[in-house]
Amino acid sequence: MGEESQFDAIVVGAGPAGLACAYLLAKAGKAVLVIERGDAPGAKNVTGGRIYAYALNLLDKDLLDDAAWERKVSHEEIMIIDGNRSITMDYHDPSLTEGDESLQSYTILRAVFDQWLADKAEEMGAMVVCGIRVDDLIQREGRVVGVIAGEDEMYAEIVIAADGVNSLMAQKAGLISDIKKETVGVGVKEVIELPAKTIEERFKLNQNQGSARMILGCTQGIHGGGFLYTNQESISLGCVFMPQEIVQHGKQVHDIFQELKMHPAVYPLIQDGETVEYSAHLVSEAGYRGMPAKLYKEGLLLVGDSAGLVINTGYSIRGMDLALLSGIAAARAILGESDLSQIGPAYLAELEKICLLPTMRLSVGYNQLLDIPRIYSNYPQLAIGVMQRLYKVDGQIPQNLKKQVMEAINESGLTVWQMLKDGLKGVRSI
Ligand SMILES: Cc1cc2nc3c(=O)[nH]c(=O)nc-3n(C[C@H](O)[C@H](O)[C@H](O)COP(=O)(O)OP(=O)(O)OC[C@H]3O[C@@H](n4cnc5c(N)ncnc54)[C@H](O)[C@@H]3O)c2cc1C
Repeated sequence: MGEESQFDAIVVGAGPAGLACAYLLAKAGKAVLVIERGDAPGAKNVTGGRIYAYALNLLDKDLLDDAAWERKVSHEEIMIIDGNRSITMDYHDPSLTEGDESLQSYTILRAVFDQWLADKAEEMGAMVVCGIRVDDLIQREGRVVGVIAGEDEMYAEIVIAADGVNSLMAQKAGLISDIKKETVGVGVKEVIELPAKTIEERFKLNQNQGSARMILGCTQGIHGGGFLYTNQESISLGCVFMPQEIVQHGKQVHDIFQELKMHPAVYPLIQDGETVEYSAHLVSEAGYRGMPAKLYKEGLLLVGDSAGLVINTGYSIRGMDLALLSGIAAARAILGESDLSQIGPAYLAELEKICLLPTMRLSVGYNQLLDIPRIYSNYPQLAIGVMQRLYKVDGQIPQNLKKQVMEAINESGLTVWQMLKDGLKGVRSI
């Protein structure tokens, strides 16, 4: 450790990225301080919330046994909404819940999960202090040497910016400028309490099994979507919207969310539940295109959301597993590289090795696909229009299928030309 340094590493933010890094560094005997502005880890964090277990397995396979899971996801669902109509597709496969634990996924509640992971990092020897906001970085001759929190200055060999989306640390280091509204979504979420039995009956789940549902067409034409996850004794229901489009459409987030809750296919699932938590948070939506050009500066590494590591495919959101991976990569770089000036490049090499950067690069196509505005209104309307015609039996001579589909296309406001263009874009993007 350098003369001035009080710690080998200071981690700003006790989310999955920061805690994964702190866990591994402390396990290797490093003096690590984690500073969290919330009153407890997870207190300020919002997620849909499903996490893929492989990332925790990579952090430490022993953690899988008593992880703070809610339910194991046994049902992958996609719901398409148009007005008061809906289609729900339910993919159920025994392999989702059987066999290798590390290949499965779980619903979680962040207040519980983050506290659990922080406890594990503390067990390894990390110091986690909460209720303190880091205000600035201390920089000397272009190198980050510590942080400032209120009146206090703290020094370390390396600082890990794990302070999430719109990272103040990355801004102070000059690695990002102020957030651009087209690169983030606003997520709102309620946690609605219900007895475990009721949840299992309503979602047709066995004990401890869970559903992960993405909802398309619930944002009234605004770029975004909804989600619903079953926890042990609650349901996480929410929506993500692009903020500038909300303004353009003259809509209120609250009103759209209330309509989703009251939808005839959603309300019976949450009926008689008690809302025990309401939260809102930004979520990075730009994927690889939105990542900072540089993920490090001498003495500083960006991990998790602060590095823009989120993938939204439309049928799933991945941020927490990528946050864990980047925390692992950062710790591996710090532990493997003795020359402080080379930790940044070593971190990039670890991000490649752990398959994170290649995965981010591949995600570009999803963003191109999700940029098509018709996905949020016309296509859901078309899908439901086709279903409506398929299932209508009224004793009259039915029209042939082609005619019915053409009718549904016209009703949805789409043109065949637009569909061809979108189809081509879709094929190219994947
Ligand atoms: C609505 C919504 C739904 C989502 N759904 C999913 C999902 O289902 N699955 C999934 O994998 N991902 C999901 N994500 C994304 C996921 O939540 C994030 O990618 C993930 O939390 C990133 O982890 P992180 O550790 O980088 O940052 P965070 O979890 O945001 O943690 C950052 C921490 O830093 C602290 N902090 C910030 N500034 C300071 C400061 N100046 N000083 C001290 N502490 C500070 C914060 O309080 C926070 O605890 C969702 C996100 C949203 C908003």
